[in-house]
Amino acid sequence: MKKIAILGSTGSIGISALDIIEKNPKRFEVVALAAGQNVSLIKKQIEKFHPRVVALKNKEKALKLGEILTVKNNIKILYGEEGLKEVASCAPADMVISAISGAAGLIPTLAAIEAGKDVALANKETMVIAGEIVTKQAKQMGIKILPIDSEHSAIFQCLEGQKRNNLSRIILTASGGPFVNFTKKELKEVKPNQALRHPKWKMGKKVTVDSASLMNKGLEVIEARWLFNLEYNNIDVLIHPQSIVHSMVEFIDGSILAQMGIPDMRIPIAYALTYPERITNDLPPLNLLETGNLEFYKPDIKKFPCLALAYNAGISGGTNPAVLNAANEVAVEAYINGKIKFTDLPNIIEKVLALHDSVENPSLEEILQADHWARIQASQNIERKIS
Ligand code: MG
Repeated sequence: MKKIAILGSTGSIGISALDIIEKNPKRFEVVALAAGQNVSLIKKQIEKFHPRVVALKNKEKALKLGEILTVKNNIKILYGEEGLKEVASCAPADMVISAISGAAGLIPTLAAIEAGKDVALANKETMVIAGEIVTKQAKQMGIKILPIDSEHSAIFQCLEGQKRNNLSRIILTASGGPFVNFTKKELKEVKPNQALRHPKWKMGKKVTVDSASLMNKGLEVIEARWLFNLEYNNIDVLIHPQSIVHSMVEFIDGSILAQMGIPDMRIPIAYALTYPERITNDLPPLNLLETGNLEFYKPDIKKFPCLALAYNAGISGGTNPAVLNAANEVAVEAYINGKIKFTDLPNIIEKVLALHDSVENPSLEEILQADHWARIQASQNIERKIS
């Protein structure tokens, strides 16, 4: 029986993970859950899965949960960063699913690693902003980081049993999001509700907007650099609108291995949870006769500059990736709230990066400082745009 703690249990990944756990009761037990604000959903999750420790975003939500909870025996209800850390390092857990969105996932993910837990990683921002520290710490603790992100799960699967020095490059695929065929002019006018309608994947708001701007792919390039210890010139991106090939690996003899499947996050989540085993599920199988043509295109970085910004931030390294990510988080929130245009996203991020004095080989403290600084800069930039 594998004991699981979930950071972000009421989000899209958390809900899918609990669906897998519920259908495999002999394999998994939930021991701890952390959520943000959705008190009514976590109440239902507690009543179904009986975790011992639960954490919410703040004291008010934790008190509210305490009031409405009917099963109170032996449940510890916590809140804030301390609560997240306690869920992440919860004594009986074997594995922690890191599925909080954004830079907020970093500290609890590090807490899980420091407590010796294997990590099933959905929170790509952790790797983007502190990939070096996280991978070093994981190595030191002897724990595994198993990718949940579908592209990285694909590459992880394609690399299984392969000799590392035979690897030539990896090719991350991107659906291209809802605006892949829009003109630059049309992109200026796209509304948040359009950006939030992803053609292939059902996901949280932040990652859906990131998919539309291609920032998601940029963050995934940096994530791949650290997860698989690659150089940036060995990481390529192709637009693949059908989202059937989840990513590919090319070897020195010209052979390419691809992992295919229907676009459903439950497949990569389950693989991270059961690796190196596989389990059955009740999802429809991929029917290649019905998918039609599989297409691949070069991404248009003139129309979607976020991808190039991410590559550049990754290559220049230091605290630049943390700044890229923080500015993006602030800009995406402003876009969702209707404060800025879709095409403002890359401009804001680029301006904040241009002002930043990157710190080489940053400590965790320096990364968090850069993140904080970038959020202030991005907010000021947005305020100036509005006023
Ligand atoms: Mg992905």
